[in-house]
Amino acid sequence: AKKYIVQKQFDGLPKSTDLKIVEEELPPVKDGEFLAEAVYLSVDPYMRAIITQSKNSDYPVGKHIVAPFGWRTHTISTGGPFPIGLPKAWIIPDPEGLPLSFYLGVLGMTGNTAYFGFLEICKPKPGETVVVSGAAGGVGSIVGQIAKIKGCKVIGIAGSDAKGKWLVNDLKFDHFINYKDPKFKEKLEELTPKGVDCYFDNVGGQISSEVLHRMNKHGRISVCGSISTYNDKEVKAGVVQSDIVSKQLKMEGFMVYQWWDRWMEGIEQNKRWIKEGKLKCSETVTKGFENTLKAFVDMLQGGNTGKAIVQI
Ligand code: NDP
Repeated sequence: AKKYIVQKQFDGLPKSTDLKIVEEELPPVKDGEFLAEAVYLSVDPYMRAIITQSKNSDYPVGKHIVAPFGWRTHTISTGGPFPIGLPKAWIIPDPEGLPLSFYLGVLGMTGNTAYFGFLEICKPKPGETVVVSGAAGGVGSIVGQIAKIKGCKVIGIAGSDAKGKWLVNDLKFDHFINYKDPKFKEKLEELTPKGVDCYFDNVGGQISSEVLHRMNKHGRISVCGSISTYNDKEVKAGVVQSDIVSKQLKMEGFMVYQWWDRWMEGIEQNKRWIKEGKLKCSETVTKGFENTLKAFVDMLQGGNTGKAIVQI
């Protein structure tokens, strides 16, 4: 078995010398345990694996599971629950002809982050204006499409014009703004003549301050992530709080596992929308366990369109 270990704490973007791949001899599988072999890795700490040996009747040989095992080729486990509140490994239902890798993306944590994080916190109404940052990524591309399904006007923010074309032409977002465009602020104003009712925020920082400034009274902001700040060493000035006060905005952060008891609801709904042709998904697949770190750094720098995964 092989696994990644951290040699040195990251200083800014992760470097190849910060992590090391080591070989390890696994012990025999004990009662209550099973052995899982990684098939796909998500370049966050999630992976999909197939069970190759088992002494645990809840996790039979041949089943595919999703579990937070880290970046490793083989893992012996009891199935969890895992540290920091992560739930048990879950067995993938019949994929019904869809690719198994979708269970790391649109039919897994990524899809549920979009489904619950947007619908439960933004509570969108038909005709409202929705802005999504990180719009061409795994979570953001699904949020925008769900907003269209709910009858909203959708504006996606992402970092390249090629991503913008994909959002508008393929995913049917109404508009796109490149946050690297020096006229970002003016374009946002131009495209939101009636203000912004819902903001799904994946990135934080300056982009979010500009969007907050366009929010309507009683607007709702779902704070999913703040990727623009993840590699910062110091806390920088945050959002413009005066907008939150003056417009009586509701801003709420979430952790997707707070909806663990409804997990399959999100997955089944996203699956139905895929089958009805209402939800499209894209994956950026990197091949080879030894390229996992590269895939991770590429994702942090915008190299992915849709969900970033590694095929072992
Ligand atoms: P993505 O597929 O969206 O990949 C990250 C994207 O972020 C990149 O493609 C890049 O696209 C964009 N990005 C990178 N740096 C910046 C920057 N400085 N400013 C603006 N955009 C930037 O990742 P995920 O879909 O996996 O995750 C999206 C967000 O959701 C993350 O913040 C993640 O932490 C969060 N998350 C939160 C969960 C929760 O429970 N709260 C659960 C899962 C994810 P571009 O080319 O547009 O720059």
